Amino acid sequence: MYDFSALYEATSVQNAVELMQAHPSAVLIAGGSDVLIKMREGKLAGTELISLYKLDELREVTMDPDGALRIGPMTSFSHATKSPLLQQYMPVLGEAADTVGGPQLRNIGTLGGNICNGVTSADTASSQVAYDAMLEITGPAGMRKISIHDFYKGVGKVDLQPGELLTAILIPKESYENCYGYYIKYAMRNAMDIATIGCSVNVVLSADKKTIERMRISYGVAGPVPMRARSAEAAVNGQPVSEATIELVGNAVLNDVNPRTSWRASADFRKQIISETARRGLRAAVERAGGVF
Ligand SMILES: Cc1cc2nc3c(=O)[nH]c(=O)nc-3n(C[C@H](O)[C@H](O)[C@H](O)COP(=O)(O)OP(=O)(O)OC[C@H]3O[C@@H](n4cnc5c(N)ncnc54)[C@H](O)[C@@H]3O)c2cc1C
Repeated sequence: MYDFSALYEATSVQNAVELMQAHPSAVLIAGGSDVLIKMREGKLAGTELISLYKLDELREVTMDPDGALRIGPMTSFSHATKSPLLQQYMPVLGEAADTVGGPQLRNIGTLGGNICNGVTSADTASSQVAYDAMLEITGPAGMRKISIHDFYKGVGKVDLQPGELLTAILIPKESYENCYGYYIKYAMRNAMDIATIGCSVNVVLSADKKTIERMRISYGVAGPVPMRARSAEAAVNGQPVSEATIELVGNAVLNDVNPRTSWRASADFRKQIISETARRGLRAAVERAGGVF
C-alpha cells in the first residue's frame, strides 16, 4: 500500500511551481520508480505528492535554434533510446538508458528523475556529465541555467531550491558535434542490477583520425556523485591513437577517483574496474570515431 495524503496533478510547469509553493512539503513525482519505492518502505508516510506525469511538454527531445539538444526531463529511458535526434547526435545516452533496470522500468523511469535523485549509480547521469549538460531549472523566480557539474551537491543532494523543478537538459552543439561516445555499465548481472561502476567516455579525433583532440570521461559510483576524471582527460588530450594512450588512460583515471567499499564490491575491486572500463571505453569511443589502433 502507498501511504500518501494527497495527489496534485500539475497541468503546466507554472502550475507545478504554484503547487510546490502552496504545498511546500509535498514531493515531486515523475515516473515514480524511486518515489514509490520509498513510499512503500514507509519513508514518505502520509506525504503529499505533486505529479509531473501529465506535462507532455517536458517529455520530448528537440533541437534548439542554436543546435543544442533539448531533452525534456520527463523523457523516459525507452523514449531516449528510440529518439531519432539522440540516435543521430548522442546515441550513447540512449544506450546508457537501455542498461537501466528492466523494460517496465525503462518505460516509466525518466531522465530527469535519474539526475534529480542525486544518486551516483544513475546510469544516464555519467553521460550527461561527460557531455557537459546544462540544466534549465524553473521556479518562483523564473528560469535559471546551471551546469550539471554544479547541480550535484553531495550524496542524494542536488541544487533544487524550494518551488523549483528541472525543466530541460541541454546538450550544447559544441559538446556533441564530431563527438563519439561509449558507455560501459559494470554490474554483477546483466539485467535489473545497479551499476558497480558506470563509465562514459567520448572523444573528438583530429581530421586524420590519428590524434585524440578531446576526451571526456565520467564515472558513476567512483565517488559520492557522478564525476569527471579531469586529470586523465588532460593526460589523454593531444595524444596519438595508440595502445600506449589506452594504457595511459587506465592508469591516469586512478588519480581522479575515490570509490568506496560496499556490500556490492570493495574499493580495490572498483579501482580495477575503473581502470579497465577507461581502457575499453576509450578504445570503443575512438573506434566509433573512425580511429584505428
Ligand atoms: C527495480 C528498479 C531497478 C532500477 N534500476 C536502475 C538502474 O539499473 N539504473 C538506474 O540508473 N536507476 C535504476 N533505478 C532507479 C530509478 O528507476 C531511476 O533513478 C529513475 O531515473 C528515476 O526516475 P523517475 O522518473 O521514476 O523518478 P521519480 O521516482 O519520480 O523521482 C525521483 C526523484 O527525482 C525528483 N524529480 C523527478 N523529476 C523531477 C523534476 N523534473 N524536477 C525536480 N525533481 C524531480 C523526485 O522528486 C524524486 O526526488 C531502478 C529502480 C527500480 C525500482
